Amino acid sequence: VKEEGKNHFQFFTSEMNELVSRKSTIAMSIRKGLKLGEFTVHYQPQIDIETENIIGVEALVRWHHPKLGSISPAEFIPIAEENGMIIHIGEFVLRTACQQNKDWQDSGMAPFRVAVNISAKQFSQGNIATVVTSALEDAGLAPHFLELELTESIIQGATSAISKMQELKTMGIHLSIDDFGTGYSSLSYLKLFPVDTLKIDQHFTRNIHNDPKDAALVATIIQMAHNLELNVIAEGVETLEQLAFLKNKRCNQAQGYYFQKPLLPEKIEELYMNT
Ligand code: C2E
Ligand code: CA
Ligand code: CA
Ligand code: CA
Repeated sequence: VKEEGKNHFQFFTSEMNELVSRKSTIAMSIRKGLKLGEFTVHYQPQIDIETENIIGVEALVRWHHPKLGSISPAEFIPIAEENGMIIHIGEFVLRTACQQNKDWQDSGMAPFRVAVNISAKQFSQGNIATVVTSALEDAGLAPHFLELELTESIIQGATSAISKMQELKTMGIHLSIDDFGTGYSSLSYLKLFPVDTLKIDQHFTRNIHNDPKDAALVATIIQMAHNLELNVIAEGVETLEQLAFLKNKRCNQAQGYYFQKPLLPEKIEELYMNT
């Protein structure tokens, strides 16, 4: 028993410690990274399937850490949610995205929406409507050119969620449910919550041609969205076959590597200036 305990301890010191220290390094360097401009925002086009025109972009945060290099948001966003720094990252992305969209419009591009991811903590803490109003006013961007992507966890989370969503809707902001189908919430919330769009999670899109059950789920989600008079977008579209399936099922929009990866703002301008 003593031997086992010792081995266990050694395992902890060697491998776990490394993980713990990477995690705490990340946790501790977010504030400074924001101050030093290490965070940037990339934009991924969202395409109308029928016309193949761009209808919006999703803002996705990027971080180049001076020692650790590029860190995926899939790694640092959960850490930032734990230590509260998500509030600051979220506000940075919101402000940057609103300003960027206004700059594109001023440069003469045909206007489209910018979609910003809002984490559960960002939505439940503080006054999201005030933060959003301030970002829009400072950028000079009209509210209907902003969309907020909310996850099912936000919606289940607080009883105040519905009134916050209504307040944002009244302002003219679009709301979407991100990663739709991956949460465990009841479908009845779709009736209660004032959202415009369902975003089909990329897990389902990826399996359209490998798993008949995922294909059936995608078709059902699209049909249900339309019956509820909601817009529906599929994320993670990588192949022409997936796009053809979605088009056949009358999915409204698509986003994914088949069209474009998340891009620098200059690249968006280059691609869509004259379309
Ligand atoms: P998400 O909101 O579901 O964003 C979609 C992710 O899928 C992005 O990863 C995007 O780059 C990636 N993606 C897009 N098209 C394809 C495709 O065709 N194939 C594949 N395999 N992937 C595709 P990314 O940028 O690494 O972001 C990961 C997650 O981190 C996001 O998932 C979101 O949950 C979170 N995140 C990113 N930026 C922000 C942010 O500004 N605020 C918050 N709260 N979360 C963010
Ligand atoms: Ca998203
Ligand atoms: Ca998503
Ligand atoms: Ca996701």
